[in-house]
Amino acid sequence: MTNILKLFSKSKKDSKHNQNFDSFSPTFEKGTVWIAGSGPGDVGLLTINVFNALKNADIIVYDALVNKEILDLANHKCEKVYAGKRGGKPSTKQKDICDILIKFAKSGKRVLRLKGGDPFVFGRGGEEAIALKRNNINFRIIPGITAGIGGMAYAGIPATHRETNYTITFVTGHASSGEIPDNICWKSLSAPSQVLVLYMALKHIDNITNKLINSGKDKNTPVAIVQNATMKNMKIQTGKLSELIEIAKNFEPPAIVVIGEVVNLQETLNWLK
Ligand code: SAH
Repeated sequence: MTNILKLFSKSKKDSKHNQNFDSFSPTFEKGTVWIAGSGPGDVGLLTINVFNALKNADIIVYDALVNKEILDLANHKCEKVYAGKRGGKPSTKQKDICDILIKFAKSGKRVLRLKGGDPFVFGRGGEEAIALKRNNINFRIIPGITAGIGGMAYAGIPATHRETNYTITFVTGHASSGEIPDNICWKSLSAPSQVLVLYMALKHIDNITNKLINSGKDKNTPVAIVQNATMKNMKIQTGKLSELIEIAKNFEPPAIVVIGEVVNLQETLNWLK
């Protein structure tokens, strides 16, 4: 039994109210799909809703970024289907993923669609939910902690800090074409004091860095890259925007890139060090 399971069963017994964790969650009805976020990796960041879904699902259709330790929490009868999509590696087509969800739900299964982070943040959760809606399949969205917030917190970088930024912008470096999205206004992203958090940005980091600098972003803006955020093998490096292309050579996905003054707090707030 994993540590987290021991913890859950112990607290069930110890609780004054004999609280059952199932009672915190809605019932996972047959023939429905729960589109859920498993967080950035650390098992402890799972929500109780996802934990209960893992216990009650008949099928789990999971993405590449779901931590294996999380899948190990599933009930032993449940079938696990890999439906990962990773840049540059063989991946399941989005239409096929939707078809799988529809097929399993129509056969009366409780389907858990498990994704890394949050399903509605660069997670295609919306596309899958639309496909389910079109097929009259009931679904529930279970938010998860997105890498661009939880991952930064583990690296010691607050998403907002009153002395540095009142805004934060999440950007994907990778459109469905595989290229940088062509409708991004780089000039507005280059305004001082903003914090940018880039997902899926390593492949095109040269181009992205140059676009930001050419649009007026200060070359001395602090930057950080956080790979495998919240996991035991988390790796962080900080520097300046002018050094970002070089720094990125030491990293591979999954990684987030943070650009903004808030990165300066990392030296003080690096609580995991
Ligand atoms: N829905 C996810 C994002 C999926 S897109 C979320 O909300 O977090 C995949 C990208 O997310 C990766 O390329 C990387 O940029 C980021 N990412 C996901 N997990 C990460 C992790 N543990 N550490 C760093 N970046 C991560």
